[in-house]
Amino acid sequence: AKNAGRNHYQFYRKDFTAAIQDRLNMEINLRNAIAKNELQLYFQPQYRAKDRVLCGAEVLIRWFHQVDGQIKMVPPNHFIPVAEESGLIVDIGRWILRTACKQLKTWQQEGIPLPQVSVNISARQFSDPDFLEMVENALGDSELAPEHLELEITESMLVGDIKRIELQLKRLKKMGIHLALDDFGTGYSSLSYLKNFPIDVLKIDQSFIREMTNDSRDANIVRAIIEMGHSLGQKIIAEGVETEKQLGYLVGRECDIIQGYFFSPPLPGHKMTDLLCSERKN
Ligand code: C2E
Ligand code: CA
Ligand code: CA
Ligand code: CA
Repeated sequence: AKNAGRNHYQFYRKDFTAAIQDRLNMEINLRNAIAKNELQLYFQPQYRAKDRVLCGAEVLIRWFHQVDGQIKMVPPNHFIPVAEESGLIVDIGRWILRTACKQLKTWQQEGIPLPQVSVNISARQFSDPDFLEMVENALGDSELAPEHLELEITESMLVGDIKRIELQLKRLKKMGIHLALDDFGTGYSSLSYLKNFPIDVLKIDQSFIREMTNDSRDANIVRAIIEMGHSLGQKIIAEGVETEKQLGYLVGRECDIIQGYFFSPPLPGHKMTDLLCSERKN
């Protein structure tokens, strides 16, 4: 038993060392990803629930990492946490926002406009002292009007120095940017911030949508979020909508905007361009 314990320990330690090495390698590779053109923006279309009109797109990052002549797609859930912990997210996030603003401006200039893009902001970025200036520069340099930009923040970013957070959100609002609360319903913060913070949109987390048509508790939560948001003057987006049945329920409850595989997966820029062109003809 003693031996088995030691083996187990050694095995664990080996695993652990390998995991640390993997992480370090990822950090080093990620540092070069922008310069090597390995990061790409994908766009997931969002549709108005009542008439299925395309009304925006969420920007989702993809990392096509080139190793030994092979390209491997690293999902954001793997590298965003590493980018956060290492602080690289400040540079990567700046690149994402600037690229998103420029892309939308290009579509507008080409006469295939999209009403808005929605960009995910991480906690580390949001608390960076230069965050507001960075956003202003991204808008200024791209000449994109601020009402075409939405930032997605999460509940976990609304805890801590409440006064500072409130001031920052109010400044973003004053610039004319829209604010969405992502993964709504999964965080730990109290609901009182909904009263004080200028949030325009609630994004119902896809975990609720997934179970909604099987579990009446999820359906009730979804209905309650929609009613609460509406009573506070907010719009509601449902994400992760995959089936006609889910869509039907959401339309019946007057959910405003739908995003999910039912309509489209996230698309690379050229595919999004094709989609915008075909929507324009309709
Ligand atoms: P999120 O912001 O909650 O994004 C929604 C995720 O759901 C995306 O995964 C999207 O591809 C996926 N999704 C969309 N429709 C469906 C559907 O119908 N069914 C299912 N099962 N999934 C769907 P993705 O692109 O892998 O991104 C994962 C997470 O990584 C995001 O969650 C976000 O937290 C983070 N992330 C992605 N892009 C960025 C970025 O540019 N900046 C930052 N800071 N985080 C990002
Ligand atoms: Ca999001
Ligand atoms: Ca989400
Ligand atoms: Ca999520």
